[in-house]
Amino acid sequence: MSFQNPVFIPGPTNIPEEVRRACDMPTLDHRSPLFGEILHPARSNVQKVLKSKTAEVFFFPSTGTGGWETALTNTLSPGDKVLAARNGMFSHRWIDMCNRHGLNMTVVEVPWGKGIPADRYEEILTADTGHEIRAVLATHNETATGVKSDIAAVRRALDAAKHPALLLVDGVSSIGSMDFRMDDWGVDIAVTGSQKGFMLPAGLAIVAFSKKAMASVESAKLPRTFFDIRDMAKGYAASGFPYTPPVGLLNGLNYASNQLLAEGLENVFARHARIAQGVRAAVGAWGLKLCAASPDLYSDTVSAIRTPEGFNATRIVEHAAKSYQVAFGTGLGEVAGKVFRIGHLGSMTDVMALAGIATAEMVMADLGLDVKLGSGVAAAQQYYRTTTSQPKKAAA
Ligand SMILES: *Cc1c(COP(=O)(O)O)cnc(C)c1O
Repeated sequence: MSFQNPVFIPGPTNIPEEVRRACDMPTLDHRSPLFGEILHPARSNVQKVLKSKTAEVFFFPSTGTGGWETALTNTLSPGDKVLAARNGMFSHRWIDMCNRHGLNMTVVEVPWGKGIPADRYEEILTADTGHEIRAVLATHNETATGVKSDIAAVRRALDAAKHPALLLVDGVSSIGSMDFRMDDWGVDIAVTGSQKGFMLPAGLAIVAFSKKAMASVESAKLPRTFFDIRDMAKGYAASGFPYTPPVGLLNGLNYASNQLLAEGLENVFARHARIAQGVRAAVGAWGLKLCAASPDLYSDTVSAIRTPEGFNATRIVEHAAKSYQVAFGTGLGEVAGKVFRIGHLGSMTDVMALAGIATAEMVMADLGLDVKLGSGVAAAQQYYRTTTSQPKKAAA
């Protein structure tokens, strides 16, 4: 028997019981036709979640970080110019990976708590008249700060500059939870992992390539073997894999993506938006502020909450784990000790969120912060009871 509480970290997320069962399989010969019956529907489901009609979807036994590497090494060559913005720990790590691969980075430094400045991207791309910049990176949802960036605006910046660079998007903490439009936004590569919106254990990098990104694969000179999508594509063409696939995880992905599509993507996004709004109501009632600088930037999957000056926010996370067996996220990098994070994505309901809010209140009261027990819960309750959680009927 397990009395484990739900986790409130922004990944890995809570795993629904049925998804766990879908991962738990007897050994299956991945060279038998049964494998194709898992692989192909999983690829087509992920394509639908990405709102793409043409993207080539690839799965690697890896994580989101491996997805970044897949994106870079399959499309770029050493010394290639790449434009990126640093506004949190995850965008920072992707830039660090680019540096370690010998790419030539132009980095727009952004205060943590703000989004990607599409206007700066446009200026830089417009000034690059020789089209030396080969790729533009964008982190859709900065999980460290709870900031959502406007990917459509980044696409408009590329188009306004008439620039042919590839648009590579980290959607690790947005895809499957927040609206993501691969085709509409002209995203060339979308990256995610299994353990966030897809509600699975960690272990899969999920990467989708546009036709334009596929066209760069042959000329890309960065070394790659494990993450070479040419080998992966060859495997898929024969309903196979270039090495041993994690069949249980892929079966789980097939199941989980089916569940998201059955709920209806717009319902999934509305559920996340509503849960997040309740959490933000609680934060306001506590008299605290989000790290995200303005409402247009608020993430629907994670809230990074600033604690009062002089208070070490990490104590909240430690105390919650120790005294209440509840997991919240710590602050990372520049905001370490300044924020704690409530993850509210994946398998989450309004009622689960109320439990997380109530726990955060107990913790803050225990630690002597000026937070009245029940204040955040009441604000969230008030929001939840006056809005509906009834999903609209999913389109067939
Ligand atoms: C979690 C996360 C990653 C890293 O993914 P791993 O699966 O831990 O390798 C990258 N980017 C964002 C935005 C994330 O939230």
